[in-house]
Amino acid sequence: MSVNVSLSLASITVFVEGVVRDSSHNRLRFIDDGPIFDSPLVGVADGDDPLFRQYKETIGPYHMTPREVLGHASSNLRRQEPPIVRVVCWILPIAARTRESNALMTKAPSLRWAHTRYYGEQFNDVLRNMVAGHLRSHAAAAVAPATSPLYKSLRGIPGYAASTWSERHAAFAAGLGTFGLCDGFLTPLGKAMRCGSVVTDAPLDVTVRHFASHIEACPYLTRADCGACIQRCPAGAIGPRGHDKQKCEQYQEETLRPLRKRYAVPITGCGLCQTGVPCESGLPRQE
Ligand code: SF4
Ligand code: SF4
Repeated sequence: MSVNVSLSLASITVFVEGVVRDSSHNRLRFIDDGPIFDSPLVGVADGDDPLFRQYKETIGPYHMTPREVLGHASSNLRRQEPPIVRVVCWILPIAARTRESNALMTKAPSLRWAHTRYYGEQFNDVLRNMVAGHLRSHAAAAVAPATSPLYKSLRGIPGYAASTWSERHAAFAAGLGTFGLCDGFLTPLGKAMRCGSVVTDAPLDVTVRHFASHIEACPYLTRADCGACIQRCPAGAIGPRGHDKQKCEQYQEETLRPLRKRYAVPITGCGLCQTGVPCESGLPRQE
């Protein structure tokens, strides 16, 4: 069976936009039923881009290439070595009202932010599975790495939280943004976002990557300008040398834990470094 040629970046973008717009999972259902995410940005990376091999060095040998993702998920495959591999990636910008509520906070996340992190990631999983299902319904092989059994969070490495698949690194390969001082991913729709991806053998056109480097969009990393996220972090976890993951997680564990009861969701980070900063809702101005 050959892959249905009606698949394209445009058709997948329409599909993702429709899920974001219509899914009941994309609502803050325990607050006011407002949207968790606004309209998305979608791109496609070449699964054979040398970047994915480099990630085995820059992230770790455990980080999978897209070909490994498809190869390991053999039950999902029609052939051992597909001629091409693509990674469909999306950016889900956090709704303006939620960003605004978190930008007012100084020590802990707002209620909307905490629910967005928790229920938003549940929606992102729904979206991952729906995009993979959509591709399969067009006779393509498709695996959402983050919801597949291949995904492992390597929490055992002391002082270093890592995983077998990085959504942000896939999004960089797809030309959707670059990394910032705080470790966040700066996109045209802002850094206050969640992202996701699906690996497929559908012959989709690859998005042009306009960024010359993986840090191009952050003025601090390119010319020591900005640094607003350093001031925003209540834990002192961001400095001129970047993001201290241990300090950030420690703040979450020790200081934010009591909020869990009040907000009725697990607290997975305060996100203050993502709001009230120049890169919150778009790329920061480059002077
Ligand atoms: S707040 Fe400024 S320094 Fe921090 S990531 Fe955004 S652009 Fe870079
Ligand atoms: S680095 Fe961690 S503790 Fe600091 S603002 Fe960002 S999420 Fe909060």
